[in-house]
Amino acid sequence: MRLVILGGPGSGKSTQARQLCRHLGIVEISSGNILRRAIASQTDLGRKAQPYVEKGELVPDEILIEFMRQRLLQPDTAKGWVLEGYPRTAFQAEELDFLLEDLNQQLDWAIYLTVPESVMMTRSVERSQNYAKDSTTSAKSRLDDHPEIVPRRIELFYERTVPILEYYDYRQKLLTINGDQPPEQVQQNILHKLELDD
Ligand code: AMP
Repeated sequence: MRLVILGGPGSGKSTQARQLCRHLGIVEISSGNILRRAIASQTDLGRKAQPYVEKGELVPDEILIEFMRQRLLQPDTAKGWVLEGYPRTAFQAEELDFLLEDLNQQLDWAIYLTVPESVMMTRSVERSQNYAKDSTTSAKSRLDDHPEIVPRRIELFYERTVPILEYYDYRQKLLTINGDQPPEQVQQNILHKLELDD
């Protein structure tokens, strides 16, 4: 199964992606985690991405598209994957389709977790406060969760990512799920829509 999870900051994308991957035995590919790790170890990708991630801006399409292309060619992706945080722009969505076409593969579904803007705001700010309290997490590893950049991340979600919904809807690939519920309920609803519940 090949899935994309879409949603704003604090919509629960990473929690749901992780559980889905566990359930389906496929790999989770999270662009945010990949970037944070790359920044922490100051790889080429990390150095290029850092100024954008720190400000809550999107990393330029060409940097991520090439990286994700390489990632999706790795052997662990053969059984399928859940992409979390990617695509985030219409251009990335189109490029993903081109890549899949080249590989003779198809996306099964794009799952959109909807939550009100106020929930995005409170969940993201709470998360940044929890990271700040947790001494085992270096502040640097979550520089994108600083409360002052949360509004910008939300703004970019509406500006750049929401247009992708139409792209997938038009292709009859969009599943919309209410993300403003307890995580277990959200997961159940996703599995139900994917006809994977028992
Ligand atoms: P996330 O954890 O998915 O919210 O991603 C953290 C940060 O990484 C974002 O605020 C962006 O700066 C960057 N990022 C992650 N995924 C993408 C993407 N698909 N396109 C551009 N930038 C991204």
